Amino acid sequence: FIHWKLAIVSLLLIPFIAFPIVKVGKVLRKISRTSQEKMADINSLLVETINGVRIVKAFCMEPYEINKFRIQNQSYYKLAMRSIKRTLLLSPATEFIGILSGVFVLGWAGKDVISGQLSFGVLGLYLGSLFSLIRPFKKLSQVNSINQQALAANERIYEVLDAPITVKEKENAGELKRISRNIEFKNLNFRYEELEILKEINFSVSAGEVIAIVGPSGSGKSTLLDLLARFYDPQKGEILIDGINIRDVSLKSLRGQIGIVTQETILFNDSVRANISYGHTDMDIKLIEEASRTANAQGFISKLPRGYDTFIGDRGVKLSGGERQRLAIARALLKNPPILILDEATSQLDTESERIVQDALNMLMRGRTVFMIAHRLSTVRGADKIIVLDKGRIVQMGSHQDLISAEGLYRRLWQMQNLEIK
Ligand code: ADP
Repeated sequence: FIHWKLAIVSLLLIPFIAFPIVKVGKVLRKISRTSQEKMADINSLLVETINGVRIVKAFCMEPYEINKFRIQNQSYYKLAMRSIKRTLLLSPATEFIGILSGVFVLGWAGKDVISGQLSFGVLGLYLGSLFSLIRPFKKLSQVNSINQQALAANERIYEVLDAPITVKEKENAGELKRISRNIEFKNLNFRYEELEILKEINFSVSAGEVIAIVGPSGSGKSTLLDLLARFYDPQKGEILIDGINIRDVSLKSLRGQIGIVTQETILFNDSVRANISYGHTDMDIKLIEEASRTANAQGFISKLPRGYDTFIGDRGVKLSGGERQRLAIARALLKNPPILILDEATSQLDTESERIVQDALNMLMRGRTVFMIAHRLSTVRGADKIIVLDKGRIVQMGSHQDLISAEGLYRRLWQMQNLEIK
């Protein structure tokens, strides 16, 4: 209103300021996306090398790993610099356009002031208003940069959040009652992406039986038991517990019935007590102690500096393999599940700890339906039923006596382990 002609001319400059802001914003979004991917690479490299530091040192691979880290770091640094340069260039660019407009206005309005058409006071007021616009514009351009970077981060977060859930619970999923009769695997076929892992699996297990699953490594033993806990769903076929399809019941009621002890025990950097009572935060210490006693763990726990309150380090590094295993067994005892999955639970132990852990396992197995994957065949001899898997198919099934007296993979596996055949 002070000088409408000048105002219109100044407004015409807006596109010149907006153009670089929008342009740079787009570039920033792209750079930001790539740099976040790079950051993720750096993080996983760090986790991998720090976790595997013993192997790195043992193979004298420090220079190699350092170099790998340096390369990743360097490429992240370059990207970060590109992004910073563009952000910082934007400010002088918008400022330059602002000053240009100031010069232009001064030139035009200066003439009017000299010829007396415009008072000096009004010009001053106009210029003051114009310059006070520049600062918000600069701020706006910064907001856009930050916004674009945030949008790039947002895209990555949503990639994860929107990933399809592979194992879905039915809307009207019922509760699975404690198993009383049997578990049936019917015409099960399973593949990870293209690769067929399990083919035409058919067998049934009565409640309370011990089932051993043996076979060469990669034959699908762990995958078969992953399907029972519904970590994956089969593409074809079904698993029934007491005649009820496990897809029709809630995950909580299904998994609540299953205890798992694997060769890599999953422990957390927390107290012994918290690790054993995992999943039951307010568990009575008496029950925890009882489970530890049954799991042959009471002895070593009482020797720890702070007993049940001792922190056991990341993934339980301050404990031996056998001790970790016994904690895992105590945890499973406390959960008291009717179904138990033992995945090579004693395969990494020496003979002495294997015996102690095996005793604990025997206590744990009592009165439960047990699926046991064992590499050492001597441990499967007592199983009620042995399933022999080869390349995803059941090639033999029966008791130890049946299988050992027949020609077949089971007998060959025994011979390979130099075990006495009887
Ligand atoms: P086993 O327990 O008998 O050694 P697994 O059930 O662990 O065998 O694996 C069977 C096959 O499935 C292997 O060939 C393995 O490479 C493949 N496999 C296992 N887990 C995955 C996965 N998450 N994605 C793709 N393939 C997998």
